[in-house]
Amino acid sequence: MQGQMMTRPLSIIDILTFARDAFGGTEIVSARVEGDIHRQTYAETHARVAGLARGLVKLGVAPGDRIATLAWNGHRHLELYYAISGIGAVCHTLNPRLPADQMRYIIDHAEDEILFLDPTFVPLIENIRDQLPGSLRFVIMAGADNLPENSLNAPAYEDILEGGGDFDWPEFDENTASGLCYTSGTTGVPKGTLYSHRSTVLHAMMAGVSFQNCLNPRSKVLPVVPLFHVNAWGLPHAAPLTGAGIVFPGPNLDGASLWNLMDSEKVWSAWGVPTVWTNLLAEIRKRGGKPAGFGDVVIGGSAAPRGMIEEFENMGVSVCHAWGMTEMSPIGTQGALPPPLADLPLSERIDLKVKQGRRTFGVEMKIVDGDGNGLPHDGVSAGELHVRGNCVASGYFRNPEAGEKAIDAEGWFATGDIASIDDRGFLAIADRAKDMIKSGGEWISSLEIEDAVLAHPSIAQCAVIAVPHEKWGERPLLVAVCPGDRPSKREIIDFIAPKFAKWQLPDDVVFADELPLTATGKVSKLTLRRVHGGHVQPDA
Ligand code: AMP
Repeated sequence: MQGQMMTRPLSIIDILTFARDAFGGTEIVSARVEGDIHRQTYAETHARVAGLARGLVKLGVAPGDRIATLAWNGHRHLELYYAISGIGAVCHTLNPRLPADQMRYIIDHAEDEILFLDPTFVPLIENIRDQLPGSLRFVIMAGADNLPENSLNAPAYEDILEGGGDFDWPEFDENTASGLCYTSGTTGVPKGTLYSHRSTVLHAMMAGVSFQNCLNPRSKVLPVVPLFHVNAWGLPHAAPLTGAGIVFPGPNLDGASLWNLMDSEKVWSAWGVPTVWTNLLAEIRKRGGKPAGFGDVVIGGSAAPRGMIEEFENMGVSVCHAWGMTEMSPIGTQGALPPPLADLPLSERIDLKVKQGRRTFGVEMKIVDGDGNGLPHDGVSAGELHVRGNCVASGYFRNPEAGEKAIDAEGWFATGDIASIDDRGFLAIADRAKDMIKSGGEWISSLEIEDAVLAHPSIAQCAVIAVPHEKWGERPLLVAVCPGDRPSKREIIDFIAPKFAKWQLPDDVVFADELPLTATGKVSKLTLRRVHGGHVQPDA
């Protein structure tokens, strides 16, 4: 028997219309490329999005067209998210940190019609203009008075807005494509995840209920995580839906700029990858205090080190460790501790927060061995993490082979992460499968060693990589960054030795001034393996 309820298509623009009606006066604050601090409410944003939708239609944008963006976090980028999807086209976010050949490949593969870009990125695009499709048009995200000289024949964003008010938003199937984000191709060509209105609205609702501590009408949230990758972890949709105000940091993501912006805007909750928080924590130490109003941080994208979690918690900033991926819209887990876990002593809470949290509603998780058999959730058994759910990719854009490889017959998506899940449901990521170190047939988790090493006060950053070894297959090598006094190799190894079996310890330590980062702000182990692959280690 079928239920007797209406079925209305889920639509992304409804989120912003709801924010206009319920939280119309709540502000979006943007530290802009122009150098100013711009403010507009959700109601004003909705009207500008209506004007932008009219402008897009006038430019000839049709349903299904891919419209690319290359921009920092700011109100215009958010407006594009809503206007493009609102008229049934697809908002394709481009990551400016990608190498030029990948950027070209992605624009070509997606067959983008128009590229909206921040003035900052004009030189970048001019450099590769002659290798991009001749039909690609450009709009520069600025007012006419701030339009930089350019050879792109591009109008100013503010000039294409056509009036305000509302727009006669078309109604379409909720499975219509709305957004497109490519993974950075560290292991092959970049692969596109094609989000839908349905998956995006469900993800926003799921994020809203999972992150109530920071997504609510009393909160101001700072997405340091970029709109140009992984949908800024869903904040552009979840914040308006829950009435949280947004503070966009624009291009300046160094510790001092973030501290100043957070302090003056009284940001409650800040979201980003660990490298960003390393810089903010250094600034907090330098100034002798945290920004006013700061009480909550969401850390993901790479493992949050224990020392970082402790430092935030000790200054009264609650840490929520989250895990996810582009193909999951992207949130998979979150690490908030409900009662009775919230009442545990701090050290036990931190033991839990070092793990990657528990699944959010709508995400199913299992771990499997090499033959695809399910492993127990006992906190010890580790295998590849597989996921399923309404906000998980069912394939890759125009790349059926990659989709078939990643998704099994029962519809589970293989994440490529090696993990365990404990009996309370906490996920612990041990490594990316390709970053695990296999020594003498046994696995060594680079993340566990890195976490222990980072507790050493002289070590700011580190990475453990596999180096080929004649006898053992692979052995771990530690690459460490020490900005001040450099401890001896022996001291570092002795420091972590109590936590590991002897054969798990790195055989050698090399020191570096900095670690190479990928386009998504994670340590690039691929580059480190290339640089140090030939390192001759002392005998294991
Ligand atoms: P991306 O698609 O760029 O968001 O990258 C997703 C990958 O980042 C995941 O498959 C994990 O390998 C890694 N990742 C994300 N969050 C975490 C986390 N909290 N701890 C460890 N690894 C993470």
